[in-house]
Amino acid sequence: MTHETAIAIRGVSKIFGPVETGLKALDNVSVDIRRNEFFTLLGPSGCGKTTLLRMIAGFETPTNGAIELDGTDITAEPPFRRPVNTVFQSYALFPHLTVAQNIAFGLEMLGRGKDEIKATTAEMLALVRMEAMAARLPAQLSGGQQQRVALARALAPRPSVLLLDEPLSALDLKLRKQMQIELKRMQQDTGITFVFVTHDQEEALTMSDRIAVMDAGHILQIGSPRDIYERPANRFVAGFIGESNFLDGTVLAAGPPARIALGGGQELSIDTADSPAAGQPVTLAVRPEYVLLGAFDAPGSLSGRITNLIYFGTDMHCHLTLDSGEELVARIPSGLSGKEGLETGAIAGVSFAPGALRIVGA
Ligand code: ATP
Repeated sequence: MTHETAIAIRGVSKIFGPVETGLKALDNVSVDIRRNEFFTLLGPSGCGKTTLLRMIAGFETPTNGAIELDGTDITAEPPFRRPVNTVFQSYALFPHLTVAQNIAFGLEMLGRGKDEIKATTAEMLALVRMEAMAARLPAQLSGGQQQRVALARALAPRPSVLLLDEPLSALDLKLRKQMQIELKRMQQDTGITFVFVTHDQEEALTMSDRIAVMDAGHILQIGSPRDIYERPANRFVAGFIGESNFLDGTVLAAGPPARIALGGGQELSIDTADSPAAGQPVTLAVRPEYVLLGAFDAPGSLSGRITNLIYFGTDMHCHLTLDSGEELVARIPSGLSGKEGLETGAIAGVSFAPGALRIVGA
């Protein structure tokens, strides 16, 4: 399937301050955001995601590189000339206007006809499920309701792209989860391209069609939530998205299957064609839910001592120290945690679900 590109970021860098000595917030970033997708920029505080979003909006200009929208270079266009709207964390509704008037405001500014404004406002009220509150003032709404109105207001002029800068972070957890589902539905109902900024990996995984994981001004990986979670490209991505165990070793044979030596004379086989050459150091990543525990003498398994068991309700975290000296966490569904021998101090056999061990760099 071919995808049409809505926004093309081409080799964009941003330096705040003098070019020689300033702060490099973005370093040669390129990405194609597809039409009608829910695209998320995800990364820790300070990684440059807001700067990239502000450049798409036109609030910042790149130091180098270009930004195209629907094939047209918009790098030099001022914000008001771009068919792009932004929703911020703070909703900034007009306090003296009703919900309906807030939604209609942008349409009036654009000089749309009376009938069109009325119809679009009604449509947007329905989209964000606020029909019953059309006549209320913002002060008479909860935080979640205000954020819905802000969304309706931003969507009303039918921008080709909606930018969302951590729009849910001021909401409490329960409301945030509800709004995540609502936002995704709104994106699907309108077919508008959403570019969403968050530092919350769970939020990114549940809402996005694709995610760009950023760190220190770079995009480290772009892919579907499943790609990023199941096939992290490097150690940073594996550690930032979900939980991961890391094992350091040395390649004995490149394979496939590759054979890896861990410390303490332990060895592992990985069915991969792209391992570094024999003699090279490697880091392996494995999710806690893919660590399997069995009898200490089970053939083909590593062995380790259980150092701690922590009960989490639906599952149990079992901390182990392998014979190689490395620490590992296994996550076991609580229903299986009564398994014989699963107790602090016991020696367990440790193996991994097929395909679960990944080489994430040296
Ligand atoms: P957060 O989640 O904390 O908002 P972020 O990933 O969105 O972080 P940015 O706001 O894009 O990060 O900032 C990237 C880097 O650029 C940071 O080190 C920040 O301090 C710096 N920066 C951002 N805006 C400016 C500015 N106007 N002047 C100078 N430095 C800036």
